[in-house]
Amino acid sequence: MLTPTELRQNSALLKLDLYCKGARLDDSCFDGEGTGRGLLRTRAGLGSGLEVVLPGGFWTNVPVLEDFAKQSPYVIRRRADGLHLYRDDDEISGLELSPRPAWYDAKTSSGKPMTRVGTLQGTYLGVYPAKVCDYWVAEPAKINCHFCSVGLNLGADDASDKSVEEVLEVVRAAREGSGITYVDFNTGHYEGDTYLDILEPYLRRIKDETGLLIGVQTPPHHDLSRYDRLRAMGVNRVSFCFEIFDRNRFREVCPGKDSEYGLDRYLDAIRYCASLGPQGPASEPWVTNGEIIAGLEPPESSIAAIDWITRAGAIPTVCVFRPLRGTDYEDQDPPDTEALIPVFRRLYDACMEAGLPIGCAPNVHVSLVLLPEECAGLSSRTFRWQRAKLAVMKRVFAAQFSRRLRAHVR
Ligand code: SF4
Repeated sequence: MLTPTELRQNSALLKLDLYCKGARLDDSCFDGEGTGRGLLRTRAGLGSGLEVVLPGGFWTNVPVLEDFAKQSPYVIRRRADGLHLYRDDDEISGLELSPRPAWYDAKTSSGKPMTRVGTLQGTYLGVYPAKVCDYWVAEPAKINCHFCSVGLNLGADDASDKSVEEVLEVVRAAREGSGITYVDFNTGHYEGDTYLDILEPYLRRIKDETGLLIGVQTPPHHDLSRYDRLRAMGVNRVSFCFEIFDRNRFREVCPGKDSEYGLDRYLDAIRYCASLGPQGPASEPWVTNGEIIAGLEPPESSIAAIDWITRAGAIPTVCVFRPLRGTDYEDQDPPDTEALIPVFRRLYDACMEAGLPIGCAPNVHVSLVLLPEECAGLSSRTFRWQRAKLAVMKRVFAAQFSRRLRAHVR
């Protein structure tokens, strides 16, 4: 078990341990500012908890609603000076609630609560703009990914129908009230591969009218030239969630993805998209992500996935399996922190070895995953030159981006 000193000194370890163990909320947490942004279940199918910021600026989403969190050695209490995290009797750290902006209580001109159109996930805006993933309504039986909660979210915390105008209104409110720099669109599978057709009108308007960074997470379209089109229109990120690298386990955990696409189509799309950077536009950065869930296959398999993704020139996004309430896997155990440390250490090392542009987007903090750059504290390697190069890239990119935003405000 990690010692209190290790947890105090290393926020990467603490963030990971909280994902794996969750925390109990003392009644005092509901006084004053309460739970800040609230305990929304809408988190693209994988999240649910309390949004807080750990020491060192590590934004995180702590599981508090699930059964495993009720057994957690961690408890969060409110004192006069704010929230504090304890493990058993040891105080580990102070916690800051992620700020709840005023627009969280506002409605769109059409009368929808803005949080049913988009929500903050860390410091960016996440939008799930279309109907529920078809795997949740497949006949004769659902073929949804077993860890996923998307079909439980829509209609509860999230509106199923969101017009371009409504999304644009919420994007503007989030830009003004929360200083967002990035908007992420996420869809499940739709019969006929229509997800990019659905998203494109949103992407064009937001890019043209705000200049913000935008990204897309959908299944891999069979027509790969659609990604050239996204690149040309100024989309900045495409992400493909294949979740599991072990083929048998992939079939078991993600029956819909397996029957409709197969693992290879995900891998082909990642490889293809990772090659599109140089074709520009040069003013728009471009990254490709391959997303996996650690804790649903052996750590060696997650590490093999990380190595494959980085070799392809893409950046891995590694989620930690969370047995969410109401999902098919709600009764499964969350993973052990210690088993996942080598996975996240490899995430950082592999990205640095490949010279990938991690941590360069301005003000993008993600609460649902431990980002590659956040895992530096898990590695014993220094990567001096790579770090210096990343620092320069970060400065150049921030300057370019703020010039562009200023031009849009004018
Ligand atoms: S593809 Fe799988 S993970 Fe994505 S929304 Fe559908 S069921 Fe959920």
